[in-house]
Amino acid sequence: MEHYFMKTKKYIIANWKMNLGLAQTVSLAKEFKKKFAGFNRGEVAVCPTVLALTETAEILKGSGIKLGAQNVFWEDKGAYTGEISADMLVEAGCRYVILGHSERRKHLFENYEEIHKKIRAVVETEKLTPVVCIGESLEEKKSDRRDFVLVDQLQQALSGIDVFGEQEIIIAYEPIWAIGTGTAIEPAEAEYAHKIIKLALNDLFGMRVNNKNFRIIYGGSINPKNVKGFVNLENMDGLLVGGASLQADEFYKIAKAITKQ
Ligand code: PEP
Repeated sequence: MEHYFMKTKKYIIANWKMNLGLAQTVSLAKEFKKKFAGFNRGEVAVCPTVLALTETAEILKGSGIKLGAQNVFWEDKGAYTGEISADMLVEAGCRYVILGHSERRKHLFENYEEIHKKIRAVVETEKLTPVVCIGESLEEKKSDRRDFVLVDQLQQALSGIDVFGEQEIIIAYEPIWAIGTGTAIEPAEAEYAHKIIKLALNDLFGMRVNNKNFRIIYGGSINPKNVKGFVNLENMDGLLVGGASLQADEFYKIAKAITKQ
């Protein structure tokens, strides 16, 4: 019988967003490779601009750091100008892909129907782990709708997705009001939200699949100082880090702290 507490591996994922061009990405990836040489306490991944995926993959060869993308399209190929398929990400060397980030939901009006199609396409490759972002807005939090919003987003994103074998699905709980603000939420609030997510996943997939295939990570203004409060939470499988991942040293400190046993 598998138990939730057997999931000891922590995931620390850097989202570099559209902050760095090719040359800057190459330079930061090299710094990461140096900094994380010999680090084997958790799963570290970086998600650079799509422009730099293949070069970053080359740099990361021989290191334990995995590569991720920030988006994907749901069709495999064809007349979809400007889009990139899941197989293309695999070919570029990706292991992870962030889906439905709140910045895409806000600026590109991405919705959970589209995110659902993206998850399906990603899972079908059997070679990529989706990092599915969910989280409430400030208004939703203020009007006490957080729990409903989280369950609703999970249902829309995941209902009807078949999860087989070793396929991992990471749910990133990212309260929109905490992203990029410099202030993370209280660890106890993250733990509460992760519990809601865990229960919703039990309903959708059953406890066995949930325990084996799903991970829940937190994202929103994590830095080397506040990370300490997130270390011993029961339902915390790792972190998605934006701003603080743009400095190799800061990110390394976060990774070291969250993987402390
Ligand atoms: C994010 O946008 O995924 C994120 C976690 O950003 P930040 O750490 O900058 O809040």
